[in-house]
Amino acid sequence: MIAEGAAALHAIHVVVDEYVEIFSSSSVPMIREKVLDVKDLGNRLGRNLCSEEEFNSDYGGQIIAVRELLPSDILKFSAEQVEGLIICSGVTSHNAIICRSLGIPMVAISRDAFDMIPDGVPILMDATQGIIYVKPSDEIISKYQELEETWRVLNDASDVQEVRRTACGEVVEIMANINLLSDLEPARHFKANGVGLYRSEFPFIVRSDFPSEEEQTHIYARLVENMEGRSVTLRTLDIGGDKMLSYYSNVTEANPFLGMRAIRFSLQNRDIFSQQLRAFLRAGVEVDARIMFPLIASVDDFIAAREIVWECMNELESQGVAVNRETQLGVMMELPSAVEVAEELADEADFLSIGSNDLVQYMLAVDRTNEQVSALYKSHHPAILRAIHRIVVAAQRAGKPVSICGDLATEAHMTPFLLGIGLRTLSIDIGSAPSIERAIAEIDLAEAEELAARLLTMGRISEIEAFLIDR
Ligand code: PEP
Ligand code: MG
Repeated sequence: MIAEGAAALHAIHVVVDEYVEIFSSSSVPMIREKVLDVKDLGNRLGRNLCSEEEFNSDYGGQIIAVRELLPSDILKFSAEQVEGLIICSGVTSHNAIICRSLGIPMVAISRDAFDMIPDGVPILMDATQGIIYVKPSDEIISKYQELEETWRVLNDASDVQEVRRTACGEVVEIMANINLLSDLEPARHFKANGVGLYRSEFPFIVRSDFPSEEEQTHIYARLVENMEGRSVTLRTLDIGGDKMLSYYSNVTEANPFLGMRAIRFSLQNRDIFSQQLRAFLRAGVEVDARIMFPLIASVDDFIAAREIVWECMNELESQGVAVNRETQLGVMMELPSAVEVAEELADEADFLSIGSNDLVQYMLAVDRTNEQVSALYKSHHPAILRAIHRIVVAAQRAGKPVSICGDLATEAHMTPFLLGIGLRTLSIDIGSAPSIERAIAEIDLAEAEELAARLLTMGRISEIEAFLIDR
């Protein structure tokens, strides 16, 4: 087009649009996802054509509102020290998790709301509540300044205690959820009791090919070293759903969340699974190492996964490599089917960990990434409370440890219920740890048990809200 006389920027625009159309009309979701990459390429070509001054992007200190976002954009914005991100599409849970790990506040909004934000106006973001204020009033600003000051004082507490207790003296463990290795520093600072969930898919997502066994061993070794002898729980690869690998083309899936996700992918791709397991077994040889499998739907799934771990142990030992035979093998309780066989799973597994993010999604049939139905995503739904209770009772009967690692554990108003039904280990993103620690310190177990028993009798969401949240 340029040879025929078109302006270069116009030519890029037209050609990018052509490819975007071709890619977006594909029936293969993996190809449709590439639309973002094509647009990204078009933008970068455009920028290179323009003078430095015109595109000397420096968003430091600003809140950026973008329609679409690639993980590479988030890293770039983070390096520029942006204050926050407002996104109206392409919010995958791994984008949200990367933002959280990098400490960038992010709020997702609808396209209509997005179109109403004018350029260059002051914005106040409350990413905790998912609210943005366009041109906030002085009153709102000062309220948030007070709130921020309160948090600073509470979070700066220098006497971080390793042992957390309820008001009546019961010890409760706070473990860290680690997404990126950069989460380890705050976890150490907070003296987390270990890593209760390492989301191992991140090194896979940010690379352009599967990380080798050596690379993985190196990553897991850092995890183990940083925890200085405290327990480390690897959650095996959890891709699929909305966490796609750009370099792995999967079959077409109309419902990826119900498709080749998590342990299903690992059981189908034995080489990738075994490499990950061997890498962790090598790295965790001298510590309290634990492996848990995501999206287990049956006892059979767990046994199949465990078999492969044992094979990997034998293989390494036959090569003269030391492995930790005491490595604990657990089940992530994330599916209604797993809840129904919780007793049998508790008998087979070494421990259970409640993945409430997915448990809520699958029990309530509410897509956790769909803005339209986010109001229906209620982690205090009576069915969820009862399911969690059942899991805890099943683990206790079998004498197996049980913990919770989903975001429900970061909701301070739920802490009395969780302790009241018998949970004593919470694994959470470390940003929420101070508030949960404070919630634990205020709890009297006898009262919490009474509260939990009452909540378990309630059959309506509204009843539970009135009792628990509006109290
Ligand atoms: C969960 O589902 O609760 C969980 C901890 O895993 P993820 O959020 O990574 O799916
Ligand atoms: Mg999950």
